[in-house]
Formats: sequence, structure tokens, C-alpha cells
Amino acid sequence: MTSAMRNQPLADLPRRILMGPGPSEVHARVLGAMARPTIGHLDPAFVALMDEIKALLRYAFRTENAMTIPISAPGSAGMECCFVNLLEPGDSALVCVNGVFGGRMKENVERCGAKPIVVEDAWGRAVDPQKVEAALRANPGLKAVAFVHAETSTGVRSDAATLCRLARDAGALSIVDTVTGLAGIPVEVDAWEADAVYSGTQKCLSCPPGLSPVTFSARAVDAVRRRKTKVQSWFLDLSLIMAYWGDKDGGARTYHHTAPVNALYGLHEALAMLREEGLEAAWRRHAIMHAALVAGFEAMGLGMRVDAAVRLPQLNAVEVPPGIDEAAIRRQLLSVFNLEIGSGLGAWAGKVWRIGLMGQSATPAYVLACLSAVESALQGDGAKIALGRAQPAARAVLGVS
Ligand SMILES: *Cc1c(COP(=O)(O)O)cnc(C)c1O
Repeated sequence: MTSAMRNQPLADLPRRILMGPGPSEVHARVLGAMARPTIGHLDPAFVALMDEIKALLRYAFRTENAMTIPISAPGSAGMECCFVNLLEPGDSALVCVNGVFGGRMKENVERCGAKPIVVEDAWGRAVDPQKVEAALRANPGLKAVAFVHAETSTGVRSDAATLCRLARDAGALSIVDTVTGLAGIPVEVDAWEADAVYSGTQKCLSCPPGLSPVTFSARAVDAVRRRKTKVQSWFLDLSLIMAYWGDKDGGARTYHHTAPVNALYGLHEALAMLREEGLEAAWRRHAIMHAALVAGFEAMGLGMRVDAAVRLPQLNAVEVPPGIDEAAIRRQLLSVFNLEIGSGLGAWAGKVWRIGLMGQSATPAYVLACLSAVESALQGDGAKIALGRAQPAARAVLGVS
């Protein structure tokens, strides 16, 4: 082997504390499941596992939708799957944009040959239902209303129940991005009567990146069946995927693509862990870790960028103190503390850090480690912060004495 061909030994990869916008910490049980022997994707044992994954996803999404499956690609593919299947050239769709991912939804609508009607809200604000209602009144006959439930670029939660109701009242299908929402805050697909909902494995489900759970209501499946044109994506064509995954348990299992067998082992284990903990308990855990993190940062003298009423517990936009080079702090957190946090995006670049408390990363140990590392790095940089206050404030919330 020439030196140019020498590869990096994977054993030397650093072990990180993952507190960015994803991926989140992956539990050893999930990694262990993924290391199980690969079997054929049409093996009866694997088909049985696929049925369990569908049932576990219905639990996580709180839905009875038969069409509830993981797409074999990351969250962005789940997004694309919803748009390419529901929209046809010439359709119009309302898209709510209050951050990066709403902007991507608009891009998806355009690439389907459909017309986006955009309702914009400022970064850091929730989608305003009154604006949506007005836009629906001004634009009758829309095919879909698309919005981001949990905007990871800002850490804002929008009112999914209300937005889905407005879509339904206007005769439109709702398309909901809850990539960051699922398992971190309540997602109630059936109670919301949401039509096409997608998520990802690498946020609050705490799996490695690469899969995208989606769920389609009977209304949405019917809309796919009634299409006049073929779905332009062969890979994401729901009618083909349905023939593989089965639109109910069992099903035809016609070969479409080879499922990522070991990645699905991991998802199965992560969903089993969620079921063991219980959804409500997981939501509660995220809320408590968030309260502790906020108490710590506020005691240190750092502000939260988003109003408490619409904050996501799993994604915290923390204001960078004046005069501090935020990228230098993040570099130090990574190199000295092995801690990854996220930077601000767009208009918020340089102004906030995005700190994730997703899935297995939402624990007292991670909250306290993050507060102490950030305090240490800021102190080293000469920032004017209140020293020694963050730990007691967070510990009080966590009940650690
Ligand atoms: C992460 C994310 C996505 C994209 O998921 P990938 O797995 O990165 O493709 C989409 N929407 C939101 C809100 C996200 O946070």
C-alpha cells in the first residue's frame, strides 16, 4: 500500500458528546442491534421485523395509519416523498416559511412543477395561523398546506393541530415536517388529522442518520391513487414502496429496493426503547432537561433567543455574548471537551448557538457537562458572565443535590 492509500483507522475516531441539531447520541443498544448479522431483506424473519417496525412507528406517531413506514434515506427524502407523491404539475400549495426547512419545502413544491403560495414569518416566530387562514381564503382550491412543526434552524414549535385543521377546513392536504419533533414533543398524527407527516431517525429517535419515518392518512393515500400523472421520482413513488412494505401488515412484498437491513435493526431497537420508556415520559424528560439547561444559561447571564411559549425543548437557541467569536468557542468545545453544539444559521449566524437535547442527549449528565464546558470556554475567552451560578441553577431543576 502506498502512503496515499493509507486510510484513517476508525478506532481513532473521537468519541463526542453530541448536542448539536443532529445527529444525537446513539445508545449502545442501538449500535449493538445494528451489528447483528445481516439477513436477506425478503427473509421471513426480516419481514416480521418490518411489521414490528411499522407497528412501533404507529405508536411513535400516535396513528392508526396503515401507510406508516421508514423511507430508506434521511429526513430530506421523507420530505421529498411527501411532496412528489401529493403534488402534480399545475397544483398549488401553501407553504409556511419561518426558517431553513420551510424554505426547502417551497423548493420541493417548485420542483414538483407546482406553485407555492408562501406565508412567511420571521425567524424565531411560530407560523401565524391567522396569516395561514387569510391566505387560504384568498387562494381557494389549494392541494396542500405544508409547514414545519419543529423548526430546527431556530428552535421554534408551531401549532400543528391548528394548522392541520385550517388545511382540512380548506379542503387541502396537510404536509407536516416533524423531523425534530417526533419523540421530543407531542406528535399526534390522528388527533391532528394530519395527512402526510415525515420525520428522521437522527434527532429525538437517537438513531444514526439515514432513515425517514413517514405516515400517510387514508385521504393522502387516496390522493396518490387518484394522480393523473406518474410520480416523477421512481425511488420515492409511494405506490411502488407500498407494494414492498405492504399497506397493511403482511402485504405483497414485491421487490422495490433492498432495504437497509442493519439500519432498520437500529431503528427497531430505538423504537423499542422509546416504547419501554413511554412516549409521555420521553416528552417529559425532554421538557425537564430543557428547563434545566435554560436555568443554567440564564443564571450564567446568557439569553434565550426564542419566546418561552414557542420554544422547542430539544433545540435551544442560546444568545452568544457580545464580542465573543462564537466559532472559536465551538472549536474549543469540540477539541477540549469533545462537545459538539450547533452554530446559528442564516440571519442568526454568529449570534446564537443551537444546542440540541435530543433523545439520548437529553440527560442530566449532558446538560450539566454542556453548561460547565460552555462556562469554562467563555471564561477562558474573557466573556462577562456570572461564574459558578449555572450548575446550582440547573441542579435545582434536575433535583440533583
Ligand atoms: C434535520 C431536518 C431535516 C432533514 O433531515 P436529514 O436527515 O438531514 O435529511 C428536515 N427537516 C427538519 C426540520 C430537520 O431538522
